[in-house]
Amino acid sequence: MNAASASTGSPIARYSYEMAEGMITNDAAPADRSDLARLTALLNALPAAAALFRRDGTLYAVNEQGRDCFVVDPLAPLPSQRWSVVLFPLGDIATELMRGVVAGGAATTRAMTMGRDGRSVLVRTAPFEDDLVLLTVIDAVDREPHRSVTDRSDRELSAVLGLTPAAVRFVDVSGQIVQANDVATRDHPSRCPTSVRELWELDAPHDVATNRPLSFLDAPAMRALAGHTTRGQLIDVRRLGAPRVIEAYAAPVWNDQQEITGVVLIDGDVTEREQLRRQLRDDEKRELQRQAQVSLEQEPLEPLVEARSRALMAAVGQLAAGVIHDVNNALNPIMAAAYLLRHYAESPDAVRDYADRIQKAAETGAAMASRVGRFIRQEPVHVGGDEPLDLSVLTNEVLDLTEPMRLSRSRERGEVVIDRQLGAAVHSRGLPGEVRAALLNLVQNAIDAMPTGGTLTLRTFVEGADACVAVRDTGVGMSADVRERAFEPFFTTKGAKGSGLGLAEVYGIARRHRGTAIISSVPERGTEVTLRLPFHGDAPPNTVAEIVAPPAIVPRHILVVEDHDDGREFLRRILRADGHTVDAVSTCADARDRLAADRPVPYDVILTDVGLPDGSGWDLVQHVRTGYPSVRIGVITGWEANDDPGSTAGAEFVMRKPLRAAELQAHIARRTTPASTTEP
Ligand code: ADP
Ligand code: MG
Repeated sequence: MNAASASTGSPIARYSYEMAEGMITNDAAPADRSDLARLTALLNALPAAAALFRRDGTLYAVNEQGRDCFVVDPLAPLPSQRWSVVLFPLGDIATELMRGVVAGGAATTRAMTMGRDGRSVLVRTAPFEDDLVLLTVIDAVDREPHRSVTDRSDRELSAVLGLTPAAVRFVDVSGQIVQANDVATRDHPSRCPTSVRELWELDAPHDVATNRPLSFLDAPAMRALAGHTTRGQLIDVRRLGAPRVIEAYAAPVWNDQQEITGVVLIDGDVTEREQLRRQLRDDEKRELQRQAQVSLEQEPLEPLVEARSRALMAAVGQLAAGVIHDVNNALNPIMAAAYLLRHYAESPDAVRDYADRIQKAAETGAAMASRVGRFIRQEPVHVGGDEPLDLSVLTNEVLDLTEPMRLSRSRERGEVVIDRQLGAAVHSRGLPGEVRAALLNLVQNAIDAMPTGGTLTLRTFVEGADACVAVRDTGVGMSADVRERAFEPFFTTKGAKGSGLGLAEVYGIARRHRGTAIISSVPERGTEVTLRLPFHGDAPPNTVAEIVAPPAIVPRHILVVEDHDDGREFLRRILRADGHTVDAVSTCADARDRLAADRPVPYDVILTDVGLPDGSGWDLVQHVRTGYPSVRIGVITGWEANDDPGSTAGAEFVMRKPLRAAELQAHIARRTTPASTTEP
């Protein structure tokens, strides 16, 4: 036992070392001895029969198992023994393999049978350092159970490969595709790629996110060869001649030595799934965008809408307040006059006077209603069927109308003195109701402006081509700012008491009469507003009753269709008073029955309301026009008469409520009717 053997713990190693020492004594040169001994010890540690030959075919070293397995003469020196003898049990194949290595070939492994019993062995030959060739033999017999396991695994693997809907490829370290399942071979039917590069070129892969071509270095197979595993990378490719999306998996295959021996590539076609997902994502994105947009729009809109609605509601409220105020003003003299009519029933002059006042007040109210209507519809007004106007007469009428207000104000606060400077023949043309309303507003503003009393001066005069009315007060006056905005609708400095519509109306009325309104005002001194209308030289009559000369009344047969009891009764009475024969019904159906009852038709004229319980007066117009062309029909409407002449829809005339008796008489008497109309 020497120190070296003592230093090695394992009995096998010790035994091998002694054997090597034994060999050294045989023939090796002392310089070689230690090398050879170490080499032999190494060979002895191998779990195989091993022999080292020089390239000239002589034996250099052999281990313990080799001595059992090969033909080695224990008494002859090793270099005297040649491989052709030593390797005899392996047959010619072993000699061939050795020659291959000597000729510069790589290491080779070959399975074969050995000896007379035909043992299965694996023979491996490999170059060893520069001048030696190593041959090892391991028994394959004890590998048989493994083989059956391997075979089974192979079969199972093929079953899996045949079954999976994914394309599976095995790639060797050089990038060659060594095995592919059926699905994989169908990807490119025109050409079956043999390498991952060829497959990559056929796939023409693009990044799904950026749609940029992918670099071959980023191919999952290449990354796997570099040791990286890819799991579920989505790639846009072209397969079967169409754009597809694949989900790629790739992993390196390692051997026991932690070397990569190949790569397995798996990819599945997920085109449909991805399309659906992209579509869902796009839909979602669009929906989010839409929501973002809506909320963006809503944000600034909501306060705006709110502010607008508030302003509108305030405006409507003010408008309503103004209307209520004006309606009450118009009704006031009617109530008073009705009371006085009864009181002075015995005096024909007084009765006529009050009747006139009632008529004027009602006309003013009607004009106001129509102004509100036009205001709401923002309609320009045409002055058609206008009448001669005497501004001095109208001014007097307005002063009469406002007399009660002036008196009560004077009593409460301070006396308002009236100064009338009315010229002769200050004539224009237009709607007296409107001009009266304008003057009413100016007088009212003037009285408002003199809270402690003062002088209200009304002047009418002709200046150049204008017939003018000036309303002046000695009141508070207007600042420049107020003067500038005074004509604006809804502009008021009177708070809840003001509507801000008075001067806006004045201005509108002036414009409709092709005239203008001018303010001149000095703060603390007073204000004068002048209404300037075009001057018309023809002499106007003084009262409304005279505007329409009463026509010679020809008695007619008239059918009145009106569902409102009072309206129907008054109309019947007025017509009867004029000597006509009148029937009155309250529905369309009754009217049709009356028309159909007798031949020839017993009526000359039909007067119909528009809103009837079983239909519209306009339908009746149609019915009469088609069935009874000789009968004239007129429509009475509580709504604004439309100025469009085509809108009478076959009616001979359209009258607006409140009805004026003179207008009604004129329409009934008129003979401008279709040719078929016959006079009785
Ligand atoms: P309202 O009388 O309802 O306020 P108007 O349109 O008639 O509306 O008048 C608008 C504003 O013009 C008034 O609030 C007032 O400030 C000013 N204004 C009108 N007339 C006069 C006047 N005669 N004197 C002083 N200010 C006036
Ligand atoms: Mg006013």
